[in-house]
Amino acid sequence: MNNRDKPILLVALGGNALIRKGERGTVTQQFKNLVLPIRQIAQLSQDYRIIITHGNGPQVGNLLLQQESCSDVPKLPLEILVAQTQGQIGYMIESTLDSQLMDLGVHVKPLISLITYVVVSEQDPAFLNPTKPIGPIYASKKQAPSGYPVAKTAKGFRRVVVSPKPVTIIEKREIKKLITAGFIIICCGGGGIPVVREGRAFQGVDAVIDKDLASAKLAQEVGVDIFVIATDVNGVALNYGTKDEKFMRRLNIGSANQLIADGHFADGSMRPKVEAAVQFVRDGGKRAVITSIKAIESAVKGQAGTEIIV
Ligand code: ADP
Ligand code: MG
Repeated sequence: MNNRDKPILLVALGGNALIRKGERGTVTQQFKNLVLPIRQIAQLSQDYRIIITHGNGPQVGNLLLQQESCSDVPKLPLEILVAQTQGQIGYMIESTLDSQLMDLGVHVKPLISLITYVVVSEQDPAFLNPTKPIGPIYASKKQAPSGYPVAKTAKGFRRVVVSPKPVTIIEKREIKKLITAGFIIICCGGGGIPVVREGRAFQGVDAVIDKDLASAKLAQEVGVDIFVIATDVNGVALNYGTKDEKFMRRLNIGSANQLIADGHFADGSMRPKVEAAVQFVRDGGKRAVITSIKAIESAVKGQAGTEIIV
């Protein structure tokens, strides 16, 4: 098939594609974990034009802790740490993808990871209330280092930072050109480097944008056909974490909005995924699926995950 005729598939990889539950997250573990999703993406690249986005919650929180434990060098703001995670994770994804493509006998596929900025609004009320979990998971609040906001999540206690909504992806035109030129693109890492506009210039801000919402924005701005959000659960559940938990294969926009309002999806984890998928199909995207990292290919075929439908 001619490259231009292939549908555009955006795969948003969760932080767990690199660090699984219970792991310390060594570089060896992260490289090993990436093989499962990236092998599937390499396979899918035969039939789809591919954009990969990724989270950075564990990694950006770890970088923050690392520098807070050292007073010999100047501290870096969160925006710079987000940029660092785009570099480190982009490198890990790109090199793993390169090996997996070679295993499939594909030796000439161009790949690129792109430093991406994402505009946020200074007036976003999210600046007043930290919701985005980052860094290590602690069994109790007492174990978490003091001096910053901590919240209870489904996984345990975690540091939280502010997470404003993405307004626009600065590099959208470049990304479109790269897709047309046949590149597999890794972009919007960690939700993108958060910036506010100052006239024609940009100023970085201390925040971490949710990568699912940034991915939905990107998908809309570059015209993605299929949006897959790959995470560490099989899909979207009703009554998650209780004995009445029930995973759904399909969820329509109306019910999704009602379930969001009824508090079925946790802030900073499942809620932005459902919101991102809803936004994508509402704005005319063909298909959005929330699935597990092991079932990316099946989800693209319509055989796994929770499909968000109009
Ligand atoms: P990622 O790194 O992939 O973005 P997150 O931790 O942000 O992963 O989101 C996935 C998590 O959402 C799951 O591990 C689960 O604990 C949590 N979750 C909260 N509510 C639900 C729900 N209703 N259905 C499924 N998972 C849920
Ligand atoms: Mg997340």
